[in-house]
Amino acid sequence: MSELQNLPSLDVLLQQKQTAELINHYGREITVKALRFSLDSFRDAIKNGAPSPSHDSILTQAEQQLNTWLRPSLVPVINASGVILHTNLGRAPLSEETIVAMQTVSSSYSTLEYDLPAGKRGKRSTHAEGLLKLLTGVESALVVNNNAAAVLLVLSALANRKRALIANSQLVEIGGGFRVPDVMRQSGAKLVAVGTTNRVHLSDYQTALKEPAALVLTAHHSNFKIIGFTAEPELADLAMLCHKAGLPLVYDLGSGALLDTASFGLAHEPTVQEALEAGADIICFSGDKLLGGPQAGIIIGKKDLMDKVKAHPLARAVRADKLCLAGIAATLTHYLKGEALEKIPAWRMISRDVEAIRNQAESWKETLKAGEVIPGSSMVGGGSLPGESQPTFLFALNVKSPDRFLEKLRGLPVPVIARIEDDRVVFDPRTVLPFQESILLEELNSLL
Ligand SMILES: *Cc1c(COP(=O)(O)O)cnc(C)c1O
Repeated sequence: MSELQNLPSLDVLLQQKQTAELINHYGREITVKALRFSLDSFRDAIKNGAPSPSHDSILTQAEQQLNTWLRPSLVPVINASGVILHTNLGRAPLSEETIVAMQTVSSSYSTLEYDLPAGKRGKRSTHAEGLLKLLTGVESALVVNNNAAAVLLVLSALANRKRALIANSQLVEIGGGFRVPDVMRQSGAKLVAVGTTNRVHLSDYQTALKEPAALVLTAHHSNFKIIGFTAEPELADLAMLCHKAGLPLVYDLGSGALLDTASFGLAHEPTVQEALEAGADIICFSGDKLLGGPQAGIIIGKKDLMDKVKAHPLARAVRADKLCLAGIAATLTHYLKGEALEKIPAWRMISRDVEAIRNQAESWKETLKAGEVIPGSSMVGGGSLPGESQPTFLFALNVKSPDRFLEKLRGLPVPVIARIEDDRVVFDPRTVLPFQESILLEELNSLL
């Protein structure tokens, strides 16, 4: 009992010089909370037989607690994993122009919903819509919070309480809880699955269309591949069938490539332009996958359908914010100016010359006087191009315990995400952003 009585009161702790410093740094309220927290934990310890602590230990523990509470958990990392659109690491890194546009619009008032010439209320949708029309030639466009929201909104606006057809082979789960059948149900659409898991024919759609339906949805497989005895109709044939029946074809395109991945030693990822040419009436895709911009969902298509989408109450609930709109507009501008490959980090990584990567890995080896350079492969990731990789060169380290080393890398001031291959820790220069290279080398130097 006397040990408990030795524990100082909060008032005594508040008179300590160290406490004044904590209050100065963190503010009074949270510091008091931390002192109470620290006192409580020592009180529990004493009840379990521990001796009473010094004032210093109590204050040190309070400071550690303040640090734990207030240190941001969303912090930059160095991606040396070789996965370009790493979903867990935030997908697409942004171009400089995109960052500046987002910063500019967030540091002052803006024309978000203001028509300057008219001096009255404007529409937030205008900021990206003009660029999307110019880029793709569509009649209408809308930017929302993400592609999951885009698909949910389109189905809610066009297929609520009506039949919506989709191929059995496309009832996919994308990850992070996005399952096409669940999203369809959530929208109120009556899901009609046609064909079989591996083979779906035009005639399957025809049969299902003997009863009235609101639309046909087609979803990009994104993160998996069906191989072997498989069939799905050509998009253009499906579009023709839909139009004959007087229905729209809605395409959940997923990654939204505007450039051809096949030019860079990868498989061909369907592009937005191809989907339009084939006759899709509405197309949904992400802003932060192969488009290479901030998180967003982009919906483009025919005006009469898009008007219904824009007027649906959910459109307000999933609308894009000003940072997103500024960022998407800046990223789209790169495509319009023909500078996407140089300016958009994801495309700069995809289009990088493999010899340049080898030289970079060699220079790391020289600087660090350690490791070796070995051939390997990088991946695009972000639910695109499953099983596809690009040749690269890796900087490889032989260490005693690769798992332990990865853990040390994650504990660095700027955490480094690497991977293990054949018992070696490997770093892919392809996905290391240029401004982080010197940090990476300094940190590795400190570890070796
Ligand atoms: C990634 C993906 C989604 C989800 O997009 P988010 O922008 O992550 O919400 C939906 N459909 C397909 C086909 C996808 O590949």
